[in-house]
Amino acid sequence: MEDCIFCKIVSGELPSDKVYENDDLLAFQNIRPDAPIHVLVIPKQHIASAHRISDAEAGLIGRIHATIPAIAEQLGLGENGYRIVTNIGEHGQQTVPHLHYHILGGRQLTWQH
Ligand code: 5GP
Ligand code: ZN
Repeated sequence: MEDCIFCKIVSGELPSDKVYENDDLLAFQNIRPDAPIHVLVIPKQHIASAHRISDAEAGLIGRIHATIPAIAEQLGLGENGYRIVTNIGEHGQQTVPHLHYHILGGRQLTWQH
């Protein structure tokens, strides 16, 4: 996807502060953190959102979910817990149309809609 900023982060065309990487995914610091720890986890391949996951991508998504605990452990979040969020579309306040999971933690989180 030519104009996708997260694809450009994957390719290295745009810089990021990487915290974890494997063949499937990249995790990097959020440029505007909403919590003491706020990391974004993205598939390296372009998927528009969690609403656009095909059957063929189910294995990839499963591996991403199975890797998030290791990323959270690396960030020191294992003991106190954390939150994984993915926003979808306009009402979900998704601002970047490349699937991403927010890992939020480092303080007591609240729940607002
Ligand atoms: P969304 O609002 O789509 O759920 O989340 C997009 C997130 O990406 C936001 O939290 C925003 O701060 C972050 N973000 C947007 N552009 C960039 C960027 O160029 N670099 C990084 N590291 N984060 C970004
Ligand atoms: Zn993309």
